[in-house]
Amino acid sequence: MTTTVAAYAAPSSKAPLERTTIERRDVREHDVLIDIKFAGICHSDIHQAREGWGEAIFPMVPGHEIAGVVEAVGSGVTKFKVGDRVGVGCMVDSCRECENCLAGNEQHCLRGNVGTYNAVGHDGEPTYGGYSQKVVVDEAFTLRIPDGLSLDVAAPLLCAGITTYSPLKRWGAAPGRKVAVIGLGGLGHMAVKLAHAMGAEVTVLSQSLRKKDDGLKLGADHYYATSDEQTFKDLAGSFDVILSTVSAPLNFGAYLSLLKTNGALVNVGAPEEPISLNLFSLIGGNKVLAGSAIGGIAETQEMLDFCAEHNLGAEIELIEASQINEAYERVINSDVRYRFVIDTATI
Ligand SMILES: [Zn+2]
Ligand SMILES: [Zn+2]
Repeated sequence: MTTTVAAYAAPSSKAPLERTTIERRDVREHDVLIDIKFAGICHSDIHQAREGWGEAIFPMVPGHEIAGVVEAVGSGVTKFKVGDRVGVGCMVDSCRECENCLAGNEQHCLRGNVGTYNAVGHDGEPTYGGYSQKVVVDEAFTLRIPDGLSLDVAAPLLCAGITTYSPLKRWGAAPGRKVAVIGLGGLGHMAVKLAHAMGAEVTVLSQSLRKKDDGLKLGADHYYATSDEQTFKDLAGSFDVILSTVSAPLNFGAYLSLLKTNGALVNVGAPEEPISLNLFSLIGGNKVLAGSAIGGIAETQEMLDFCAEHNLGAEIELIEASQINEAYERVINSDVRYRFVIDTATI
């Protein structure tokens, strides 16, 4: 049995998103039915809806930054009850038994995790994301949103928050450490807030000084324009960690020169084209060039708890569902401060 719910979907990669209805399964033993309140718009929603990352499944209901309230639970659910405030991020299932799943790295499930949308679940049914009024998710992939966090500013934490929290923690954003964040967009603004809350000295490296006032308010200690060649001279050998949140092709050699000995340049944004790099820029100074993909379920919960403790949410522009297509254009033009969030009551 299923329930029909309203949603916004892309009918194809060339067509704008439009209002439609989708079917949600009835709750199974370990499922929670979530009344979605807010859904963030992530740049990867646009990449997938427009097939920028390869062939996709249509109709597509994007959205993997979901915040809402539990409306019903299956008979075997132990973690949640009706009325609880919950979130769902980029995945809704995994094999749960491979080495990576058992280590809490479900995002790297060796059999492939099940994406929140543009994927097929273990039951053979396509998954539909957060641009809808309700979603049914296994409790093991449902996160608790602490009381201190408003649901609207919590929604983007489910992707932008964990994508930046995980590498900052792993590579040591902490008191006494210098962290640089490349790009001040949806991911970058969260990275600045989180690295500051972790106690690091934070520098924003942005193309221009256009958002400097914002960056300093968000918690950055310093702000430099990368269009100014002097920046690379002034900051040579400065940072323990550099987190790149941009997908524009960078001169990686130039950025590696900004690291201290043993420093790491970690990428959560990726240019579409392969990069060319002289490896002497890694060898001199024992440097690390790394990547990072979201985080596991336990770490995502840890991130939400950390954000509540430090009173951190995303900076958002709340929109109605009818503005989704316009919002996509603005995201593509980097014209958002700093995350669009859909009020799903307007779907
Ligand atoms: Zn995302
Ligand atoms: Zn697995």
